[in-house]
Amino acid sequence: MKKSHGPAFRAAQLDLDKCPACRGRAVISGVFHELACVQCSASGWVTAETGEALPLEVLVTQLSIRLQAAEQQIDQLKRPDPVFGPDAQYNDNNRRGPGATNFTGD
Ligand SMILES: [Zn+2]
Repeated sequence: MKKSHGPAFRAAQLDLDKCPACRGRAVISGVFHELACVQCSASGWVTAETGEALPLEVLVTQLSIRLQAAEQQIDQLKRPDPVFGPDAQYNDNNRRGPGATNFTGD
C-alpha cells in the first residue's frame, strides 16, 4: 500500500549539484569584478538530474532544507558525546588513583 502524499506542494529534498559554470561559488570572476552566475541564478546550485537552474521559488525551499540539515549536523557535533564526557574522565582518574597519594592503610 502506497501512502498518498497529499497536496501538490512538496518539500521533498531534490538532488542538487554544484553549478559547473561557477563551481558552486554563485559568482563568476569577470575582468574587473565578480559577476552573478547566470546558469544557477547566482545560487551556486543546479539540479543534479538536468544540470539546470531551479525555479527560484523551488530553489529557496531546497536551500532552506539543506541549511536546516547542516545546522542540525553542527548542533550534533557541538553536543558532547556521552562516551567521552565527564563520566569517562572520572573513570580515567579513578584508575590512576589507587596506590599513589591516597594510601590510608596502617
Ligand atoms: Zn553558477
